[in-house]
Amino acid sequence: MLQELKKKPNITLDGTEINVYANIGNVSDTAMVLQNDAGGIGLFRSEFIYLNSETFPTEDEQFAIYKRVAEVMGGKKVIIRTLDIGADKQADYFNLPKEDNPALGYRAIRICLQQHDIFKAQLRALLRAAAYGKVSIMFPMIISVREVKDAKEVLEECRKELIAEDKEVGDVEIGIMIETPAAVMLAEELAEEVEFFSIGTNDLTQYTLAIDRQNPKLDPFYDPHHPAVLRMIEMTVKAAHKHDCWVGICGELGADTALTETFLRMGLDELSVNPGSVLTVRKQIRSLDLSK
Ligand code: PEP
Ligand code: MG
Repeated sequence: MLQELKKKPNITLDGTEINVYANIGNVSDTAMVLQNDAGGIGLFRSEFIYLNSETFPTEDEQFAIYKRVAEVMGGKKVIIRTLDIGADKQADYFNLPKEDNPALGYRAIRICLQQHDIFKAQLRALLRAAAYGKVSIMFPMIISVREVKDAKEVLEECRKELIAEDKEVGDVEIGIMIETPAAVMLAEELAEEVEFFSIGTNDLTQYTLAIDRQNPKLDPFYDPHHPAVLRMIEMTVKAAHKHDCWVGICGELGADTALTETFLRMGLDELSVNPGSVLTVRKQIRSLDLSK
C-alpha cells in the first residue's frame, strides 16, 4: 500500500503541502532515498566520511563523495551538514582530548572554527560539488550569531580561493541546525543570517531536558514530546518565518506520525526522516484534514 504512494505529493486533504526528505550517512544510502521517493536529502551526516577513514579525508576525496550524491539526486536538494564529530562520534586521528562532559565539549562547529585546515578542506569540497547539483550547507551545534558569521566568512574565503585557482564552484544555500536551547532563543537573529533552519530534535531534547541521549537508563525520562521541546519547535518556526527562513526537522521526531499533524499546524516546511519512513510519513500527511 505504501508503494502506491510513490510519486504522490505530500499534501493534506485540505491542501497543505510539506516537503518530506531523507537522512543519509553515506553515498550508498541514496539508493534507499530514491527508492522511497524522498523529495531530497535533508541531512547528510558527513562525519561518517571521517569516521570511516584512517586519517583526515582530503578535499578531493570528499569532493568525489559530495559530487556523487549531488549527481545521483539529479537536481533534488541535498543538505550536507558539516563535520559533527566529537561527543559520541570519535575518530582517533583527531586526537580529541578526553573530556568529562563530551556532549558539552569540543565538538562539531567548535572544532571547525578552531581548526580551519579541517574546515576548509570540507567547505572547498562542498563548493566544488555544488557545481554538479543542488547542494545546501548546514552548520551543526550553533549557539551564537558570531559562529554563523565566522563560518560564513570561512566559506567565502574558500570560494574566493577556488575562483582564483580557476576551479568550478556552485551556488549553495546556507542553513544551520537548531539543536541547542541557545539557538532557539536567538532564532530571530540567526534567521537573518541563513536561508534555512533544520531542527535537530535528538540533541535539542537532550540539551533542553538535561538528559543524556546516550544513556539507556534515562530512556524513561528522555521525552521528545515534552511540552518544552514542542514549544521550542514552535518558537523556532515562528521566528524563522518572520525572517523568510524556511524550517525543517531532521531529528528522529520528524518521523513520529503521532506528531505529523502538530508539525503541519505549526507550519513546518520540511520533515527529513530515515529513508524507510518517507512513505509512512507521506501516508499520514495525506490522511489529515487541518480544516477540522
Ligand atoms: C539531532 O541532533 O537531532 C540530529 C539530527 O543530529 P544527530 O542525531 O546527528 O546529532
Ligand atoms: Mg545533533
